[in-house]
Amino acid sequence: MRVIDEPPSVQRQCTSLRREGKTIGLVPTMGAFHEGHLSLMRSARAENDVVVVTIFVNPIQFGRGEDFDSYPRDLQGDLAQAERTGVDLVFTPSAEAIYPKGFQTYVDVIELTEGLCGASRPGHFRGVTTIVTKLFNLIRPHRAYFGQKDYQQSAVVRRLVDDLNLDLDIVLLPTVREADGLAMSSRNVRLTPPQRRAACVLHASLRLAEERVSVGERSAKAILDEIRAMIEAEPLARLDYVALCDPETLKPLDRIEGPTLLALAVRFGGTRLIDNSLIRLP
Ligand code: AMP
Repeated sequence: MRVIDEPPSVQRQCTSLRREGKTIGLVPTMGAFHEGHLSLMRSARAENDVVVVTIFVNPIQFGRGEDFDSYPRDLQGDLAQAERTGVDLVFTPSAEAIYPKGFQTYVDVIELTEGLCGASRPGHFRGVTTIVTKLFNLIRPHRAYFGQKDYQQSAVVRRLVDDLNLDLDIVLLPTVREADGLAMSSRNVRLTPPQRRAACVLHASLRLAEERVSVGERSAKAILDEIRAMIEAEPLARLDYVALCDPETLKPLDRIEGPTLLALAVRFGGTRLIDNSLIRLP
């Protein structure tokens, strides 16, 4: 497994792999790997000649007062796990190499980034779409792998790929969960034991909504009220948002009449967790 930290060097390497006719699968990450990351790498391994993983805690997708400085980092552990998972190349650039002095070009997806996490984290998706565009240009993958846990991110990246005619496929893979249902996240390690127990309320909210829909509830307000009450009943949890929306436009829905995305974000102390479920009518 090769580890490269200079952008021109990864670009040369990937260009020559492409010229040799190799297919390239890219897994962009911020590191501190868990099974969610590894599941993306395994799919990329199965579907491509070459697997490239990027590890970069992207400063421009964190707002002021967010957790950029305290974001979990474990480069040595990550490299060992990537190697065991059959990754060929890991790109670990510095922030200075990605955003050199004078950098001033950003990529913005407009409407899809207005709601959900975009509303609570202004500028976040602009940071995501800018780094993803740069990584796509440096690595020129045939396929890029994303997790459903960050559903809005995947919708925004698909839009970006379509709108800018980028020549690659976006592959979306299911959320990997702990045994008790909590979605795996690098941030979970920062939860105290009581917060970790309380964090089950995210998954429980998703199950509650699925259950209500399965017995015929179609009113978004009725379901959202129940979820709000469930989260308010958990003293360690503070609801950031919960929404039922169209899975393509991400616009809020009043009634559940077809596939619907339920998405929520909840804070536990300084740790903000997200989760979602694609609800289908029975
Ligand atoms: P991150 O390092 O958190 O930016 O995540 C890198 C990629 O892994 C993103 O595409 C995430 O959606 C995906 N991912 C994160 N957590 C999970 C999970 N629990 N299950 C599946 N994919 C995940």
